[in-house]
Amino acid sequence: MSQSLIIFRPSGKVEYQFNTKIHPFNDLISHIVNETCIDLAPNFVTKTISQKRFYSLHRKGGDDVGSSGDLYAALYFDAVTTIDSEKIRSTLNGILKTFVKLSEEGDDEDHSKLKKLVDLQFNQLMKLKQSEESATPVRERTPLSGHASGTSTPSAKKAKGGKKMRKWDGEEMIDFDGKEALDYSNGQVEGEVGEGDKSILNIDQTAFVKDNDLVLVNELNDILNESDDEEQEEGAGTQKSGFFSKISSYFGGAINVDEVSKKFHDQLISKNIAPQTSKSIIEKIKLKLQNKSNITMAVYQQTLTDELTKILTPNVSTDLLYDIKKQKTRGTRPYVISVVGVNGVGKSTNLAKLAYWFLQNNLNVLICACDTFRSGAVEQLKVHVNNLQKLNDMSTTTSSKIELFEKGYGAGDHVVQTAKSAIQFATDEKFDIVLIDTAGRTHSNAKLMAPLKKFGDAADPDKIIMVGEALVGTDSVEQAINFNNAFGNKRNLDFFIISKVDTVGDLVGTMINMVMATKVPILFVGTGQTYTDIKRLSVKQVVEMLMK
Ligand code: GDP
Repeated sequence: MSQSLIIFRPSGKVEYQFNTKIHPFNDLISHIVNETCIDLAPNFVTKTISQKRFYSLHRKGGDDVGSSGDLYAALYFDAVTTIDSEKIRSTLNGILKTFVKLSEEGDDEDHSKLKKLVDLQFNQLMKLKQSEESATPVRERTPLSGHASGTSTPSAKKAKGGKKMRKWDGEEMIDFDGKEALDYSNGQVEGEVGEGDKSILNIDQTAFVKDNDLVLVNELNDILNESDDEEQEEGAGTQKSGFFSKISSYFGGAINVDEVSKKFHDQLISKNIAPQTSKSIIEKIKLKLQNKSNITMAVYQQTLTDELTKILTPNVSTDLLYDIKKQKTRGTRPYVISVVGVNGVGKSTNLAKLAYWFLQNNLNVLICACDTFRSGAVEQLKVHVNNLQKLNDMSTTTSSKIELFEKGYGAGDHVVQTAKSAIQFATDEKFDIVLIDTAGRTHSNAKLMAPLKKFGDAADPDKIIMVGEALVGTDSVEQAINFNNAFGNKRNLDFFIISKVDTVGDLVGTMINMVMATKVPILFVGTGQTYTDIKRLSVKQVVEMLMK
């Protein structure tokens, strides 16, 4: 993981920069000036910009800092980190102190000493994270048998301490690091299984549960339970932590609804819910409570909990297996599912996860490569199909088949022709499902979005699934709306898969953003980079997370 830091004055003058270009921080500075960052503690704010997580600490000038005046230190990480923000705050505080001390002593004109000390403090932060990860025991496993639908996997046991980065490397299932796992996005050798990929043959048997003749995807509990435990551990000390301490003074009697609404508005934003989405949720709550008197905190919290639950609870069936099997008995054409989304969100990875799940259900899958635009996209799918074929060959419980359908690269009508031919081929060859990968596209670029309508009309998929990243935050609202509108007046998205939930800790607000903007339900969430890292949504757990 790389990290970058700047120390700057309120005037914008940069005093020190570490391992960085200034450019990514300019946006942060404008957010600080416009006060659109999220307050984590006094003078300590955070903001997600361009999928990077920024933190900034403001050290006010005064007696304790002598003549050095007001200073800010800001850093960002690649988005994949959930290091406890308090640890980041104290590292920034240490760095600012070091900077002030050295500049007052006037002995570090070329910043070499400061650089060493900054290095040291960053290293400590990183070491802390690594020791937490290596102290994490291997996850328990139960064999695939006899559980009822919805049974959860055993919760991960974890080391005490702050939050750890939620990557699945270091687990029993896959023993190569997360970058290699299922990451074929840079066009690996055609059709070949890459280095270390032998371990894909060890798959997580607890990821699915058997219910009569169905194999069902398990519920998202592990990751969220971990965060629960952390909150409890943090709260077990002398101080109440986080949001609870901010609202505890309101418990016991009637509350001022406006005041409490403001606190909850900020709380929802701090969980990655877009400001406008949070605002409309809170306004709804105020409306619901407006004619009631003596409203207590408990009543307020329950009303908000109910509202968030209502937003996330699907109002259509998400039983995809039922639909597919129904279609199969009709014997007309295979069930067609296409996957859409912006670039790099995990479309092909999650399409491969779906394929793996279908194969476990003895369904024959044809994967169709309709990203005929990005070089390497077809080869990426080929690698997935080869892996899945291998896994399937080894299985003693499945008799299904998987193949790739591709017609190479091309523009214009090529996508539509490829999709149509794939569906025809699948019908002739008795495949049950066609899974169509599509090119990633920028949701705000009308020219790139326009072909989706033509594709939707021609392929007429039974389900269109948008993959959206949990990391995205505010932009997820517009992404969801634009993709939902891309298929014309008569057609909408059917489901979301929210990917990379393993990388956001309890900042699960993107789910609310996307569902509320479109009323499209979440089918699954992606929780890692292996074929079994897919889970059903636990609405209750997500809502609890948002309310904490
Ligand atoms: P596409 O361009 O939308 O098809 O994205 P890819 O499927 O190529 O995925 C981009 C990257 O995201 C790859 O490195 C994947 O391994 C990674 N990825 C996909 N889903 C997940 C997930 O649920 N969790 C994590 N941590 N990484 C994921």
